[in-house]
Amino acid sequence: MSTARPVHAPLTQFPFEHGEPVIGGTPLSQLVAQVGRTPFYAYDQQAIAQRVAHLRTSLPTGIHLHYAMKANPLLGLVAQMAMLVDGLDVASAGELRTALAAGAHPQRISFAGPGKRDAELEEAVAAGILLNVESFREARTLAQISARQGKAARVAVRVNPDFELKSSGMKMSGGPKPFGVDAEQVPALLAEIGQMGLGFEGFHIFAGSQNLRAAAIIEAQQLSYQLALRLADSAPSAVKSLNLGGGFGIPYFPGEQRLDLPPIADALHAIADDAHVRMPDAQLVLELGRYLVGEAGVYVTRIVDRKQSRGQTFLVVDGGLHHHLAASGNFGQVIRKNYPVTIHPARPDLGATAGSAEVVSVVGPLCTPLDMLADQIESPYAGQVGDLVVVYQSGAYGASASPAAFLSHPATLEALLP
Ligand SMILES: *Cc1c(COP(=O)(O)O)cnc(C)c1O
Repeated sequence: MSTARPVHAPLTQFPFEHGEPVIGGTPLSQLVAQVGRTPFYAYDQQAIAQRVAHLRTSLPTGIHLHYAMKANPLLGLVAQMAMLVDGLDVASAGELRTALAAGAHPQRISFAGPGKRDAELEEAVAAGILLNVESFREARTLAQISARQGKAARVAVRVNPDFELKSSGMKMSGGPKPFGVDAEQVPALLAEIGQMGLGFEGFHIFAGSQNLRAAAIIEAQQLSYQLALRLADSAPSAVKSLNLGGGFGIPYFPGEQRLDLPPIADALHAIADDAHVRMPDAQLVLELGRYLVGEAGVYVTRIVDRKQSRGQTFLVVDGGLHHHLAASGNFGQVIRKNYPVTIHPARPDLGATAGSAEVVSVVGPLCTPLDMLADQIESPYAGQVGDLVVVYQSGAYGASASPAAFLSHPATLEALLP
């Protein structure tokens, strides 16, 4: 086995005891017995609470933290988030309903996303949440709805900035984009918003996702703040809310390191101090998805078959890309890389065979070469039929971001661990 090459991304969120991960305080083999069947996702609420607490102590106190629900919309998890963070960001009327059902106050919900349908806008205005307007059409429709409902829609303008978040997993700004309104068109939109009597509250500038470079995030936040200052000159009223986006990434792949928070905190301090003077009514907001929940979740599968093919060993498991598209490498990755994956005996009490290290690939049951959960990983334990395979960093963009109907296999379970 090579030692120079990191085997997988850093795994520090779950302790290992007797060779198995302890998830939500329960060793893997016991957890599997409790859940009763595989495959399943498990989300550790303690780990989520710790992550939010860590962010709170690391970042300037005045900054609001929002949870971007599309990362994981499981009702119980959203209910936990509604208590832990300052707001929920939804991306559809369906997510809005979940946020409300989870107990979030409408004052603390915002809605972003291109192509909001009229019925979604109606529902959002009726609920009294903040709408991030992404086009002139949306603003005009909102004016009609406001008149009909006799209440002004609360709006912020989602800006497509004239810069991008460098070295991001997913770029969502700069150049032509379907998200938001190009910065150069925003003054005209602000004038219309003023004339139409919508309740202007501020700006939403989201530059990109999955970034592990503090310097890139700092640069995007500073540019976003400068842009908001310029645009505020054309606003019909004072800026009350300035959402600077997020983009905080988590380590998924071999060689990746955790995001360095202190320099980001320092830069945010400087922005907050300046905003105190130049945008005194503005609440600064960061909206994060995967950074809050991604590392708190695992996907657990069981080995169904063990095969040799022309010199390679394949473990076929009972879960796959239909539950976890991202781990299969088909959710926006340019080059397929392995999520952290570990293999464990189903009955660790029987004494696992130590020293049986091997290189294996883990594949799912779907009849497509895309259904690969781990490509030639080095495992210290040679998994047998009935044993368990754990995929880490699975708390975000897992079950809800996968093609569950593809090949008509059973749906996954999702367990929320206290
Ligand atoms: C997807 C999305 C997020 C969350 O992104 P993460 O990478 O999960 O942090 C936040 N804001 C907007 C507007 C998004 O579209």
